[in-house]
Amino acid sequence: MESMMIIVLKAGVSEADETRVLNEIESRGYSVHVIREGGRVIIAAFGKEQTPQTLEALTSWPQVEKVTPVQKRYKLVKRGTPQERTIVRINDHVSIGGNAVHLMAGPCSVENEKQIMTVAESVKASGATILRGGAFKPRTSPYEFQGLGEKGLKLLDKARKATGLAIITECLSEEHVELVAEYTDIIQIGTRNAQNFQLLIAAARTGKPILLKRGSGMKIEEWLLAGEYILNSGNPNLLFCERGIRTFETYTRNTLDLSAIPIMKKETHCPIVIDPSQGCGSAKLVDSLCIGAVAMGADALLIEVHPDPAHAWSDGPQQITLEEFARLSSAIRPFLTAAGRTLGHIG
Ligand code: PEP
Ligand code: MN
Repeated sequence: MESMMIIVLKAGVSEADETRVLNEIESRGYSVHVIREGGRVIIAAFGKEQTPQTLEALTSWPQVEKVTPVQKRYKLVKRGTPQERTIVRINDHVSIGGNAVHLMAGPCSVENEKQIMTVAESVKASGATILRGGAFKPRTSPYEFQGLGEKGLKLLDKARKATGLAIITECLSEEHVELVAEYTDIIQIGTRNAQNFQLLIAAARTGKPILLKRGSGMKIEEWLLAGEYILNSGNPNLLFCERGIRTFETYTRNTLDLSAIPIMKKETHCPIVIDPSQGCGSAKLVDSLCIGAVAMGADALLIEVHPDPAHAWSDGPQQITLEEFARLSSAIRPFLTAAGRTLGHIG
């Protein structure tokens, strides 16, 4: 990768110390351009980045004040021009990242055939194009429902065949990557695994579109760099998903960072998805957050919907009912229109 670094030397360094720095930079394959101004020496270094021997390590030299990289650390997910955008093809009928905003909806966990079929038929009738449902669940406690595993994947597949909806489900570990990829249209990497780089690489290598949640303690740069692992593994089909970060706030489960939408739009050509359900942890807030997300330019929404949230096996408080989802799908339409977007449909 081409790289440009600015190296500022301390005021009053001797010529010998300056030469030592210049020689070191050149010995690492960089060409140098020296600027002398007001007794200060500033070096612009151009070359190929060699990560094990980054020039940033020169800050440890006594004569060096500061080393600043000019380029971003992420290269492949980076948006080159304002027009550049990636449209991720999910299947023959659904693509994300174009003008249409897609609704991904379904239960937190797949529980049984009746539940997933009921949700699938209903969310499809209300405008969803993608069915979500966890088969492998990352639960905080080992005593909580861990998901139906492969049986859950088979039920999702059945719902896909019955409705034509695409499927998104989470893959928790490298050991299940092939299995999950066999059934799903999109592999979800959850917040707890957002920096599990070996899992990211293995998931990317399946070639399936990847939805990468933001880790609950991750800075945006770290999230972009995690996405870089997917593209760097030869898979261009990446969706970033904001799902709330951990803050001091207690009125919500997490703090949904909607400012991530315009930031990610500027930084990356990959589509951005908003998950308001994990984002706030409360069914009552889902509508407002979806409206905000579409107005701000989200490319898709990932919403937890359950026929009977009070009896859900996971995340009951944040799941909305089938009827609430139907109302939500109507309520966001004027905001989509105002944003110059349309609602995604199958076809
Ligand atoms: C989920 O989508 O149900 C889930 C567990 O998501 P997250 O990884 O964002 O917590
Ligand atoms: Mn959930």
